[in-house]
Parts: sequence; structure tokens; C-alpha cells
Amino acid sequence: MKTNIKNFTLNELKEELKNMGEKPFRAEQVFKWLFSDRVETFEEMTNLSIDLRNKLSEKYRIGKFNIVRKLESIDGTKKYLFDVGDEEGNLIESVLMSYHHGYTICVSSQIGCRMGCKFCASTGIPFSRNLEPGEIVEQILAIEKDSNIKISNIVFMGIGEPLDNFDYVMNAIQIINDPKGLNIGARHISISTSGIVPKIYELADKKTQCTLSISLHSSNNKKRSSMMPVNNAYPIEELIKACKYYIKVTNKRISFEYALAKDNNDNLEDAKELAKLLKGMLAHVNLIPINKIEDGAYTKSSNENIIKFRDYLNDAGIVATIRRELGSDIDAACGQLRRQNLK
Ligand code: SAH
Repeated sequence: MKTNIKNFTLNELKEELKNMGEKPFRAEQVFKWLFSDRVETFEEMTNLSIDLRNKLSEKYRIGKFNIVRKLESIDGTKKYLFDVGDEEGNLIESVLMSYHHGYTICVSSQIGCRMGCKFCASTGIPFSRNLEPGEIVEQILAIEKDSNIKISNIVFMGIGEPLDNFDYVMNAIQIINDPKGLNIGARHISISTSGIVPKIYELADKKTQCTLSISLHSSNNKKRSSMMPVNNAYPIEELIKACKYYIKVTNKRISFEYALAKDNNDNLEDAKELAKLLKGMLAHVNLIPINKIEDGAYTKSSNENIIKFRDYLNDAGIVATIRRELGSDIDAACGQLRRQNLK
């Protein structure tokens, strides 16, 4: 299969075209056709010579997703199931959420996931491969076209572990950021990770303005390891050290995700441990009522417990909010993007 031309950042595209004997401004024109005008064929790139259009279509394809299924929640959230158009017929999911400040899309970064978190439905999907930069960006393009909207925020919280697909995710972000690309600022992008420590350092050194979210879920190594196997490789002390480095280098607040599961990580002892762990850090805690997945061991905490947990943290000087749940009736809420329909 030919390379998807949407995989290239503008600089990479300049290099590609240079190797074909073309001037850099040609790359800018192609890039604009792809991401501003959003054409689907090389023939439509009418400011290029017919000869160049032919050369491009011999070498590259313009990747496109097909919508296999679309579900709409009563709260307006939409879940899209896409056929990525590869030879294996792989399918992925993305979610569109509507907030008062605009539209947010939750994108997938991999086909399947290797992290094995016990509470997450993506764990049931066998890992197939990383999504390419063009495929990460395509989720936005396809949804904007179908829903006739402009996305303002992007969260890497769909299927996959973005820091396990670091280079492609970074390239996708460059395309998304580029004023000649999607022109969405890094401040409007969140990367969520289960805690791949070396990549957190790498991300910090890139000095992006993206928001980093850490899926913490417990401040206790034994408990966290039982929920998230990645904790065996990168325990909490190392994770927090990396987070402190990230904050120091970027001067940005980190968001800690904490999904509350009944009788597991939701009592006041847990809140106490969490407050101690995050004390003095430039941090925000996002409390999420855990979504029960099929055959899942965990069930949602009671509302009362969640509020108590939040109040304890707030009283201890830790900023904590309870995340509003969107799309749970269509299995589009946190961690629910699931195997159903997926190979
Ligand atoms: N791999 C990345 C991003 C994908 S998961 C990560 O781990 O952060 C996106 C978020 O949904 C994470 O915070 C994850 O912990 C959370 N999540 C997964 N399953 C969940 C569930 N069943 N209920 C609530 N949140 C869940």
C-alpha cells in the first residue's frame, strides 16, 4: 500500500518534495490542500502542474476513513466507529463531546492497547499496531466533516497509550498545531498516560504546551499495580519524580485522573494518601466515577463517597473536581471504548 501523504509534517513534506526535485513552497501548497481545503484527490490540487499531481498520486495515497457506525447519546455526545482503510480492515473509535466552550474530541492513538489496565475496556482489544500520524489527524478531519463543526480541544484519551506511540503522536500534534495545518494550539491538547516514565521526561524536554494527564487511580503501589500492570515497571515514586520534572521544565499544571471504584480506592485512607503524595505540586485531580466494563471487577463508588473524597482533598489543599460523565448510554464514557465491533 502506498504511503498516506497525510502522515507528513510540513517539514517532512518539504523533504519529500525536495527529493522529487520540487521547491519547498510546493509542499506548503500540498499541505494546505490536505488540511485546510481538505481535498480527497490529487487532481483537485489545481495550483500544481498536472505532471506533479500525477507524480504525487503514483507515490502516495490520500488516506480517508469510512464511518462504519455512529451513535449519539442523549447528552449530545457522539461515538464514531471508523474503518481506517488499511488492508486488515482495522476499526477504531473516537468520541465527540460538546461543552459550553466548544467541541472536544477524544482520539485513539493505537489499534488496541498494551497496558492491560484491569478496569479499561480497551484491554479486551488485542494490540494490532500504532496509528500513523495521518490516522490520528484523520479522526478530527472525519468528525469535523461529518458533524459540520470545528473542534477546539483534543484529548488523547481514546483507545491506546499515546506515550507508547510517542513519535507518531508527536508528529500528529505538529500537524494539528501547524497554522497551515489544523491550527489548533498545543494548550488545547491533552495527552493522557498510564505513566510511561521515560517518555514523560522526553515529553517535558520537548517543551510542548500540551496538558499532561496522568492516570493515577491509586497512591499506593500495591493497589495501583493490581489495577495497572504498568506500575510494576514504573512505580509511583518514579512516576511522581517524572511529573515534578515535567512541571519544573514546562511550568504547567499536571492533571491526575482518579477513577473511583467502590471499596477499592475510594475510602478516606486513599484520599489521605493521595493528598500526601500531591502536596505542594502544581496539580489538579480529576475524579471520575469508574465505569463498570463487561466482566470488570470494579464498580462505581457511591456519589456520597465521591463527594466526600473530593471534599477531603480540597480541605487538604489539593484542587479536585468531579468529572461530568458524558456518553455513558452509548458506551462512550471514559474507558468504555470497547471490543464490540472491534476486531
Ligand atoms: N492510555 C492512556 C489513555 C487512554 S485511557 C491512559 O491510560 O491515560 C483514558 C482515561 O480513561 C484514563 O485516565 C483511564 O485511566 C480512564 N479509564 C479507563 N477505563 C476507565 C473506566 N472503566 N472508568 C473510568 N475511567 C477509565
